[in-house]
Amino acid sequence: MSKPNPFEVAQKQLDDCAKILNLDAGVHEFLRHPRREFHVSIPVRMDDGKIKVFQGFRVQYNDALGPCKGGIRYHPDETIDTVRALAAWMTWKTSLLGLPLGGGKGGVICNPKELSLGEQERLSRGYIDMIWQYIGPEKDVPAPDVYTTPQMMAWMMDEYSKLTGSNSFGCITGKPLCVGGSCGRSDATARGGMYTLREAAKELNIDLKKATVAIQGYGNAGSYAHTLAIDLFGSKVVAVSDSKGGVYNANGIDPDVAGRIKAETSTVANIPQSKKISNEELLELDVDILFAAALENVITKENAGSIKAKIIVELANGPTTPEADAILYRNGVHVIPDFLANAGGVTVSYFEMVQNIMRYCWSFDEVYQKLDERMTMAYHGVLGASKKYNINMRQAAYTVAVARVVEAMKMRGWI
Ligand code: NAD
Repeated sequence: MSKPNPFEVAQKQLDDCAKILNLDAGVHEFLRHPRREFHVSIPVRMDDGKIKVFQGFRVQYNDALGPCKGGIRYHPDETIDTVRALAAWMTWKTSLLGLPLGGGKGGVICNPKELSLGEQERLSRGYIDMIWQYIGPEKDVPAPDVYTTPQMMAWMMDEYSKLTGSNSFGCITGKPLCVGGSCGRSDATARGGMYTLREAAKELNIDLKKATVAIQGYGNAGSYAHTLAIDLFGSKVVAVSDSKGGVYNANGIDPDVAGRIKAETSTVANIPQSKKISNEELLELDVDILFAAALENVITKENAGSIKAKIIVELANGPTTPEADAILYRNGVHVIPDFLANAGGVTVSYFEMVQNIMRYCWSFDEVYQKLDERMTMAYHGVLGASKKYNINMRQAAYTVAVARVVEAMKMRGWI
């Protein structure tokens, strides 16, 4: 069965929101498309001496609220429509969190697992060579996403700095600490999700100390979710997975063991003393909390009815299709939607930009406290809208976020 086109999913979600907000037809049409996008060809000298050409994209979806902000994904299956969808979701995410930023996203079709470190560096610098005139602290600020790392952000920042003749730390976020990164950026996406989960659990009267947890995806978002679910709440993580499969252990899985096995064998599917399960099985486990922390379109109309979790925390972007959303809502599953649940990453990226501009670094505690305030406020804003209009959490998040972007476009005289 073919997966839905993520951009069509994003447009459908906006269409639903337009009806709820009774949006003007022209404004709705404007918001259905990116304002600007770049398609680039990047020639890279490979280690064997040959030139290989990679295709890349940067989409600047809407910058009514401020400079575009959004990650760069390196993935063999990357498409322009995935990048468009992710850029749209970034627009709603920054708006929902009340950040003075718009939404953008980038991507390069490649498999970094098959590239040497030198090839990764030349590709990362080559990508910036193609788009540097169109990005920067006042225009568009990229960051890491799937299969891109703080090291790659450092190369990209350095390339941009060389081309502009300045030490422009604020042109990119998610950098290592020693070159203008922020305390707390590495686990920010998962931590932000935890703050929304804490509020949701209070609302639903779920004791997180006794809760069981399954996590799909074991990269930046998923692996930190594992550690934090235990450290912050004392929950029991009984299942984890990555692109090569997953495991289940009713007694709980130790994050240190999971991290070691992943480092040694490149997958968590080899964790000992546990039962091997597929990614599909993980989603349908009888657990209290499910973290979707891999990729888009994994919860569909085919499996939504079999999901037993009481709360789904969407750390990934776009894991649930609109048809699945309707089924989950009907079944009383509380979904913390992606652009709320995973907004911790962009929020600390925003903190990183602010610190770069101020040239003043905040402590871990300051970052955590400011992140908690923003995530908690955003969660309750969405919950309030959901109750007010009697709509699901995703539709509620859209109404809050889209209304703010529309207001900014009106004040700027665009519409
Ligand atoms: P990552 O590259 O660090 O990790 C991705 C993980 O997903 C890997 O463990 C990989 O094995 C796994 N994976 C890939 N395909 C899979 C599949 N088909 N089934 C199960 N697992 C699969 O990426 P990340 O930064 O953790 O991003 C994960 C998701 O979170 C993405 O949707 C991303 O857009 C979203 N997100 C990340 C951040 C961030 O700050 N890192 C912020 C917001 C949203």
